[in-house]
Amino acid sequence: MSEDRPEGPPEDRPEAPPLALHPTGSTERAGLTRPSGPTGPTDAHATDAHAAALAHALLAAERGYPVFPLTRNKLPALRSPHRGHPEVPPCRGECGRLGHGVHDASTDPLTIRRMFAAAPWATGYGLACGRPPHHLIGIDLDTKHGADGLTALRFLAEQHGFPIPPTITVLTPSGGRHLWLTGPPSPVITNSAGRLAPGIDIRGAGGYLVGPGSLTVHGHYTLAPDTPQRPAPVPDALLALLTAPPPSTRREPPPGVPPQPAAALVSFVRASPAGQRNARLFWAACRADESGLGQELAARLTEAARHTGLSAQEARATIASATRHRQEGGKRGNP
Ligand SMILES: [Zn+2]
Repeated sequence: MSEDRPEGPPEDRPEAPPLALHPTGSTERAGLTRPSGPTGPTDAHATDAHAAALAHALLAAERGYPVFPLTRNKLPALRSPHRGHPEVPPCRGECGRLGHGVHDASTDPLTIRRMFAAAPWATGYGLACGRPPHHLIGIDLDTKHGADGLTALRFLAEQHGFPIPPTITVLTPSGGRHLWLTGPPSPVITNSAGRLAPGIDIRGAGGYLVGPGSLTVHGHYTLAPDTPQRPAPVPDALLALLTAPPPSTRREPPPGVPPQPAAALVSFVRASPAGQRNARLFWAACRADESGLGQELAARLTEAARHTGLSAQEARATIASATRHRQEGGKRGNP
């Protein structure tokens, strides 16, 4: 994501001290569940973080997810054996050495231990998406920079009539969440950022998700409370959206006032369940504002919000805050 500063290659980092691994003990204290012990993001805990990441990675592998070690910046921890001499075509591990990023991902415990031993600075792990048996699709819902990926996904779900199934959910340190879904072997789902909506990134074939139990510079990735044991299959209508041609080749919205999106925004607010009323209103007001419909829709959005039980005063305050937020965001977005 854009917040992450790329770090230098591993050879630019100070040599990490030799690491005592705990090949049998560590798997017991951390599973594919919420980590039980706090391991703060300090160097003093680096060894613990490494052991915890390895333990979580091994457990994920046991459940069929191919994994590989990550740095604190969520980058592949093993350096490429081809650095400075890029292969044409690019090597994806055919040379038999490690250091090919997501292509290193494995479910073999010995290979995983070997990778972590070669990268003692690793404090996290990635799960390769798109690979059998799960053909994992990661729905990365952002909450940074004014995006609200979860509300955006709810809007898409209502517009296109698909459920958001209960599924494995990982909470990110920045307040976002990753939904894990299983896909079919084909069509292949590829990575995309913001294609479905701002705040929704897709991790597919060739991409990876930071696994729960990983420690990054921003903090821990953890499983959401009461997360199911297995990922749910991707809903058909969502799969159709994911495999649709990219937006540039789709029809452009008609010039002038697009009546359908406006109506959809209003009904999205009108259908808000308790607990989502302000988030949905705020999100819809931001979208209306983006489309130049802010003033025009303010009264209809207020009315829709009142229908859900918000007072006119609360609704107007939320809409005003969305307008302010958009104005401030616009300034920040132009450095
Ligand atoms: Zn190679």
